[in-house]
Amino acid sequence: MSVIKCIGILTSGGDAPGMNAAIRAVTRSAIYNGIEVKGIYHGYRGLISGEIKPFKTENVSNIIQQGGTILKTARCKEFQTTEGRKLAYETLRSEGIDALVVIGGDGSLTGARVFAQEFDYPIIGLPGTIDNDLYGTDLTIGYDTALNTIMEAVDKIRDTASSHERLFFIEVMGRDAGFLALNGAIATGCEAAIIPEISTEIDQLKELVENGFRKSKNSSIVLVAESPTTGGAMQLAERVKNEYPQYDVRVTILGHIQRGGSPSAQDRILASRLGAAAIDALLEGQRNVMVGIRNDEIVYVPFSKAVKQDKPINRELLDTLRRLSI
Ligand code: ADP
Repeated sequence: MSVIKCIGILTSGGDAPGMNAAIRAVTRSAIYNGIEVKGIYHGYRGLISGEIKPFKTENVSNIIQQGGTILKTARCKEFQTTEGRKLAYETLRSEGIDALVVIGGDGSLTGARVFAQEFDYPIIGLPGTIDNDLYGTDLTIGYDTALNTIMEAVDKIRDTASSHERLFFIEVMGRDAGFLALNGAIATGCEAAIIPEISTEIDQLKELVENGFRKSKNSSIVLVAESPTTGGAMQLAERVKNEYPQYDVRVTILGHIQRGGSPSAQDRILASRLGAAAIDALLEGQRNVMVGIRNDEIVYVPFSKAVKQDKPINRELLDTLRRLSI
């Protein structure tokens, strides 16, 4: 195994609050261990086109509290082709970068996995996504901040929902994962969460209406995870209008507000720990793993597991939500 003297770092796919804290942690921890760092801009696109700059500790000063990513992010079709990845590999060779740290979601780590296999190249992944949908880690960077943003928004909508005695469907992000919807619903005292994980088991809307909304309250809020399997909030509202016209239904789609903002303390700490651990992983000779956290301990999850397996929803949370919304 050759010694790693210089690493490259990039952020890819959807941005998430805490990515900057992760960039800072990786950079500082690498320099602390005598490893050079190069920042790669615009994700895999910048790796192909060579948008690369040496990073010193001051390049990551004053960013721990900033949302988004100073390295910018992008989606890159070219990286999904063999030719594109070959160009990326040539850039890494010519820049003298011996290993990569990739911060991103499911798609970005899939790309990392493909590239690492193809060129036998060392890559460490960090889970950076608000969706919390990566297998093998209890939490992903950005999830806690997004959950807090959802909580604040839903609290505000609650004021108008109760004044007008309406049924509100609030659509949250999640891309085929119900973590934000389910925990957001518990945190805001919602009547229910409609999530993709159980879409094929039961008709969640029918169950909700048939069980009746909470009698002690004059407003009803349901969080809906955006996903083709839930149909999303608009489609569910259409169904209510047609099938249960007695309800006055309204829809709010929270959208990109969920991705922004200064990261929460939890996300900053998580990103700092995972970022530092990414360098430990490389020094230990780990390759092609995502660094995650489980029961408050750092774990290394092979890319194959992190991206290929569905992370199950905790059924106890569903039960808690049901019990508390009587
Ligand atoms: P996220 O990382 O947030 O899930 P995307 O799914 O958009 O975001 O993926 C980000 C980028 O990762 C894509 O634009 C592409 O460059 C790369 N990528 C995704 N899937 C693959 C794949 N199967 N092979 C190679 N690259 C991929």
